[in-house]
Amino acid sequence: MPEGHKTHFLAREHTRQFSGQPIKVSSPQGRFRGDARKVSGKVFSHSEAVGKHLFYHFDGGRLIHVHLGRYGKFRQHAVPPPAAVGQVRMRWQGADTALDLTGPTTCRVIDADTRAEVIEKLGPDPLAGGSPAKVWNRVRKSNKPIGALLLDQAVVAGVGNIFRAELLFALRWDPRTPGDQLDRPAFDRMWKALGKMMRTGLRYGKIITVSSKEAGVPLASLEGRDRFRVYGKSNCPVCGHPIETIEVASRKLYWCPSCQS
Ligand SMILES: [Zn+2]
Repeated sequence: MPEGHKTHFLAREHTRQFSGQPIKVSSPQGRFRGDARKVSGKVFSHSEAVGKHLFYHFDGGRLIHVHLGRYGKFRQHAVPPPAAVGQVRMRWQGADTALDLTGPTTCRVIDADTRAEVIEKLGPDPLAGGSPAKVWNRVRKSNKPIGALLLDQAVVAGVGNIFRAELLFALRWDPRTPGDQLDRPAFDRMWKALGKMMRTGLRYGKIITVSSKEAGVPLASLEGRDRFRVYGKSNCPVCGHPIETIEVASRKLYWCPSCQS
């Protein structure tokens, strides 16, 4: 599932590619057809990411709200785009770029009030200048494991399963540590490390948690699990102990029980 670095990366890309253009919006698959008509032909202003949500602002006040969920994907084409393949929920045609969206959890046209309601339910987003004090207030009052709190979008927006595992490993924290057992300096270390990790993800358009020294190659060239230190790995890069998985908040969490205690 795309995490917050990816939504911010897409928002930036789509704004750069389509801002100021009238967009022909359609739904080859049909499920978005009624909504597509409400915005098609209007001038696109900009895209905005908040946590894992994307908002596309059009002149006249209407917005498209997209949540990619687990399977959502954008594909780009030159104009004119080829015939739609598969379940293309939404297709955009701008001046010289077309965009297909398949498999999103959410794709709908909303107004500013609905956007505000969606954002209201989300915790602060580190990449959108979110306030750590608000996150700390939730964490310190909760006896849930920090591994669960990090995935709760109402606590902090934009963290998914990979950032969670990599962050807890970088901090050497046991994922089962309850939030209310952390102190403020520890939380501040976590917030700082998370922000750095997410900004690196935004810069490269993909999550990269190994250092260039660890990687031995330019970071941008890293693909797949070579980008990570613990997620999907078999052995700990620090101590060599086998990496294990436990279920925290219904998702599989990779960790090193030897380092993270
Ligand atoms: Zn280890």
